Amino acid sequence: NETIAGFDDELAQAMADEARRQEDHVELIASENYASPRVLEAQGSVLTNKYAEGYPGKRYYGGCEYVDVAERLAIERLKELFGATYANVQPHSGSQANQAVYFALLNPGDTILGMSLAHGGHLTHGAKVNLSGKILNAVQYGVNEQGLVDYDEVERMALEHKPKMIVAGFSAYSQVMDWARFRAIADKVGAYLFVDMAHVAGLIAAGVYPSPLPHAHVVTSTTHKTLRGPRGGIIVAKDAGEEIEKKLQSIVFPGIQGGPLMHVIAAKAVAFKEALDPSFKSYQQQVVKNAKAMAKTFIERGYKIVSGGTENHLMLVDLIGREVTGKDAEEALGKAHITVNKNAVPNDPRKPFVTSGLRIGTPAVTTRGYQEADVVALAGWICDVLDAPNDEAVLAKVREQVTAQCHKFPVYG
Ligand code: PLP
Repeated sequence: NETIAGFDDELAQAMADEARRQEDHVELIASENYASPRVLEAQGSVLTNKYAEGYPGKRYYGGCEYVDVAERLAIERLKELFGATYANVQPHSGSQANQAVYFALLNPGDTILGMSLAHGGHLTHGAKVNLSGKILNAVQYGVNEQGLVDYDEVERMALEHKPKMIVAGFSAYSQVMDWARFRAIADKVGAYLFVDMAHVAGLIAAGVYPSPLPHAHVVTSTTHKTLRGPRGGIIVAKDAGEEIEKKLQSIVFPGIQGGPLMHVIAAKAVAFKEALDPSFKSYQQQVVKNAKAMAKTFIERGYKIVSGGTENHLMLVDLIGREVTGKDAEEALGKAHITVNKNAVPNDPRKPFVTSGLRIGTPAVTTRGYQEADVVALAGWICDVLDAPNDEAVLAKVREQVTAQCHKFPVYG
């Protein structure tokens, strides 16, 4: 018997429980999605056995002729997907892709200007607790009272601090970022523009959100969020020039990584092929339609949405001034089988572990097949819970409704 069950029952049980949780609970974490069975097939394949340090055609190990095919497919499809002239599919994660960009183009102590974690940026955009904030001199911009990036303020900060790199992109921002404006600001101070498109990469690939490729010197992404591939990272660029491309290549390997994860790269190749299919465009259009429908429902029920709505796959529900905290809300919704994450909102008076907000995203439910009417019902149940987070009868009723809805839309069948 070569299966996990019967050999390691404790682990097999945890895996079975997680599979059931994914079917029975509704997933609204904006950074999550369900990879296709084909992506899972590649990730569970024998390609995991292969060492392939180097790049296709230039490896430090023998026997790479077939994994070379897989990596070349991933690279070519990725270029096509984003209109890129350079693509590196080896970063193990989004964080490592970002680390590669910093070490390729900057020196320790150099100044970067990125969006603060508290206002929707990512840890790797210069947060104090992250290496990006420890090794680099990170200056941080945020959003204004309306919850929008204030480009005049970004420009003022750029002129004051003279960063060597401006970082654009976000983990919690529901509007369209003006990549061209960011580039104009970067050009004014002679800085690189680096865009981390992790959250919106799928929308961009499908043409439903503006692409940063024509504007940025370099762009990174994760592959597992809206892009719906395996957990991993990528770096892409358009006409960055040989010097930048060379630096990016050599920093990923041998600079910060050793052997690439060839099973994951194969899974990326599958996901990019899926994303090139016309059905991916209608999927992403539905992701945005669903997000807009949910935001409208929250507003109708009296809940504030940061920036007043959404133009992408996510929204931030603002709980400032309410008794229920982000932490309480996450817990209460969890009891009702609705998975979300608490999130700081701009000018949040509560601590990062408590927060006054919820981040809600529609990529996963849309993969399941939810349409506007389904997410409107779901948003209504979320409001029922937020209105009465300690009412066990409400939680039980919502859990029942959520479970019935989940069973209408099986993930893996
Ligand atoms: N960049 C952004 C904008 C993100 O939101 C995230 C993850 O949430 C990352 C990078 C990091 O990706 P990973 O978790 O793969 O390191």
